[in-house]
Amino acid sequence: MEFNPPRDIAGEARLWQAVREFERMHPAFVSMTYGAGGSTRDRTLRIAGELAQETTLLPVAHLTAVGHSVAELRSLVGSYADSGIRNLLVLRGDPPGDPLGPWTRHPDGVDYAEELVRIVRDLGDFHVGVASFPQGHHRSPDLDHDTKFLVAKLRAGAEYSITQMFFDVEHYLRLRDRVAALDPAEASKPIIPELMPITSLRTVARAEQLCGRPLPEPVIARLHRAAGTGPEEDQAAVRAEGIAIATEMAQRLIREGAPCLHFITLNFAKATGEVLTNLGYQVGEAPLPAR
Ligand SMILES: Cc1cc2nc3c(=O)[nH]c(=O)nc-3n(C[C@H](O)[C@H](O)[C@H](O)COP(=O)(O)OP(=O)(O)OC[C@H]3O[C@@H](n4cnc5c(N)ncnc54)[C@H](O)[C@@H]3O)c2cc1C
Repeated sequence: MEFNPPRDIAGEARLWQAVREFERMHPAFVSMTYGAGGSTRDRTLRIAGELAQETTLLPVAHLTAVGHSVAELRSLVGSYADSGIRNLLVLRGDPPGDPLGPWTRHPDGVDYAEELVRIVRDLGDFHVGVASFPQGHHRSPDLDHDTKFLVAKLRAGAEYSITQMFFDVEHYLRLRDRVAALDPAEASKPIIPELMPITSLRTVARAEQLCGRPLPEPVIARLHRAAGTGPEEDQAAVRAEGIAIATEMAQRLIREGAPCLHFITLNFAKATGEVLTNLGYQVGEAPLPAR
């Protein structure tokens, strides 16, 4: 399950409510994203530490190179270690303000996630994951370039990758094929697919912003059919369709041998819980067997 640092006290209360609900679902791990600015970054560090110390969950803290010197990055990793975090998702990040704008490296920082993977691995006994992109990263000129640098991050010491969200399982399967073709040894490392259950037409826009691409036409068509032709969106029907789409994707991914599923939760437990229920999992049951 993926969480975001909350913006305010009300958001923090809501996150903790979701955390307690997720504890009963026994996720393999939960991750906490790392934002572009000071206060949200402080909250990621603090709340990831609280997840480690005050819950039964295994937290994975995201870490980006944006605006940090190497010395600051080392100190941040040390702070995570102090609060009991040994699992980091290591990312380059995007330029603040305009994520699609030109990347400017901090004068004493790093250019690519691969360098940060090496820094973290050299600092101690950390488990490191990285990002992967089923449709290619938006800055990659082509899929071969994209696969080459994903494999470089794995060779640098990353133990797994988590994908950007996608809505066509074929994109995930082709990514897996590309990694296997380029480096069969690195291909044994888990590529964890990321899913986001759509709960309204508004979350379609959010999903497109997060994955940097339009959703596939058949998915959009299903959601719009559910919304109906009336002046008001049929919200219950759109939500049900969004949960059905996520469930079908999850079922296919499990059949295809995905190692586990990573859900973008937006700090709410309900939609993810419904997908898990559709998959036959009873909330509060023993953990699903690891694959
Ligand atoms: C699961 C997941 C979680 C995320 N969490 C966060 C988060 O918490 N906070 C946040 O700000 N962002 C987050 N992001 C977004 C991510 O930071 C951006 O997508 C960013 O643009 C790329 O980060 P990266 O780590 O993949 O970069 P990199 O692996 O460094 O790749 C960046 C680009 O450079 C290319 N490249 C890499 N190495 C080289 C090289 N040696 N020479 C030439 N080109 C190279 C790559 O192909 C790619 O196009 C997340 C993304 C994913 C998929």
